[in-house]
Amino acid sequence: MADKAASSAEKQWRDKYLALHEEHKSLKTALGDRNEQLRRGLVMVSLLAEGQADDLDGALSGMRDSMKGTTLSFSNAINQLDAMIRKFDGHYDQQSGELVTHLVAMAEKLCQCPLPKDLITQIRELRKSASKDLQSWGGYVTQLNGWAGVLNNIAALDGADSKQSGGWLSRWFRSEQSTETLPDAPELPETQSSVQERVENPSQDPVEAGDKETEPGFSRIAKEVADTIGALISRLVIPERMESTAETLQERLANGVHWYEFVALLEDTSQFLLDCLGSGQEEFERFLSSLDKRLQAIQVLVADANTGASDRERARVDLENMVRDQIADIRSVVNGLGDLGELGSSIRDHLALIVKAMEQYQKVENEREARLAEQLQVLQARLNEMEAEASQARQIIEDQRTRATQDHLTGLPNRAAYDIRLNEELLKKSRTGGSLSVIVCDVDHFKKINDTYGHLAGDKVLQLLASTLRKHLRNGDFIARYGGEEFVALLPGATADDALMVAEKLRERVQACPFNFRGERVTITMSFGISEYRTLEAPETVFERTDKALYKAKESGRNCCVKA
Ligand code: GH3
Ligand code: MG
Ligand code: MG
Repeated sequence: MADKAASSAEKQWRDKYLALHEEHKSLKTALGDRNEQLRRGLVMVSLLAEGQADDLDGALSGMRDSMKGTTLSFSNAINQLDAMIRKFDGHYDQQSGELVTHLVAMAEKLCQCPLPKDLITQIRELRKSASKDLQSWGGYVTQLNGWAGVLNNIAALDGADSKQSGGWLSRWFRSEQSTETLPDAPELPETQSSVQERVENPSQDPVEAGDKETEPGFSRIAKEVADTIGALISRLVIPERMESTAETLQERLANGVHWYEFVALLEDTSQFLLDCLGSGQEEFERFLSSLDKRLQAIQVLVADANTGASDRERARVDLENMVRDQIADIRSVVNGLGDLGELGSSIRDHLALIVKAMEQYQKVENEREARLAEQLQVLQARLNEMEAEASQARQIIEDQRTRATQDHLTGLPNRAAYDIRLNEELLKKSRTGGSLSVIVCDVDHFKKINDTYGHLAGDKVLQLLASTLRKHLRNGDFIARYGGEEFVALLPGATADDALMVAEKLRERVQACPFNFRGERVTITMSFGISEYRTLEAPETVFERTDKALYKAKESGRNCCVKA
């Protein structure tokens, strides 16, 4: 009876033990595989990110060293990472192809519009070079700049009132809607003045006052425009501060473009592209953003590894507890059976051996877990370092950008910043109309100041003059050091006469500036040239005209203002 009970308990115990042992064995093998995959994945990612910057290479190689001998793993995360990397590589080529298709389609549709000849030529040239340009990041920037210019010119041609009533381009779209088939190829205006005529004399246009809600003429190019602009934006590395603008633009594009929104959309996109392209650091920013994505992928893997490690720890503890319970059960059964002679002592020996083996196993496992946790910690620290380096690099780019547009002596914006601002102001002007005037001013006989009091004193004069000029302009006005002792100001909303009054005030303030050299009071004066932008005028033309006015001021005895 006792023998029978003992053998049934032994069998029960043995089955349970064997089942648990099997389970644990397969768990261990699976975990081992996953660890190896994770290790390989991390090494792979670190190799992919290499070769971009020395500091980062150091950190990556450090990370690989820390992985040696490690057996982490997670197949899902690795597969995800693998897919992500493949997508990352394929994405770029595929998008280039799509973008070329969009650009060619848009160019063809735009060429059907009655645009000035030189603009059509510009569009054709851009279309021709698109496929070659889009093979390199530099060429990509050239394309974007080219299209920004084209869009800007179209928007300017369409007239300032186009948002409400539509300029000549809008009217052309509407005239298109009045026929089912394409009208005869519109005659391309020879010059901008013939375009102007069409604007000023709408009776020459074959325009019907159509329903403003539908625009089949426009819809022929609307999709191309929306798709192309969308593709351009999605390929840009958008600076953080401009992300919301990009989102808004993408939303507007996704909602479909109506003819009455067309010009505003072109202007906004053009402005947006110019803003994005301001720095010349795009390539590096692109790298940083790809690095960010890769770092994020590694972070996911490490987090998974941590979770996996604690899952395994839990499974091990469960297994041990179960085995312990079983052993306690068996012990109590065996003890309850009284003296079992040899069988009893054999069972007790077995139990003691199992407990000992378990303790040994536990010790080894604990050591392994501790090593793994340590390796994960090192890995996490390396990742943090890499992220810190990436954000430091981003900060450096920001600083470089500021330095690139700021004059270090006076702290005023420099000539490059002036060019950027001028573009912005011209876009604004073409959208909202209004005046825009420019003042160019130059210190009189500055060479004499340098020669008499030294270059350092000359520098101080420039600093004081810069702050005087800035202080006496309005907030919305812009002033830059154009070079040497020459400054240039942009006055949005000011006519030439307004600007002349402002220049006169500046001239008086400069003359009243209290300069003292070696205890001697010295009066410093400046001469001013003033001019107002005329519609469709090239920025260089107005600058030349203003510079000539400044020259006249110098010829008329200096310390005066001349309006062109
Ligand atoms: P004008 O009234 O015809 O403008 O005479 P000017 O002497 O001011 O003009 P000129 O062009 O003959 O000389 C300009 C001088 O300005 C020469 C150049 O050395 C000096 N200059 C240019 N940049 C700086 C600068 O950053 N610091 C100092 N101290 N001098 C500068
Ligand atoms: Mg001078
Ligand atoms: Mg000068």
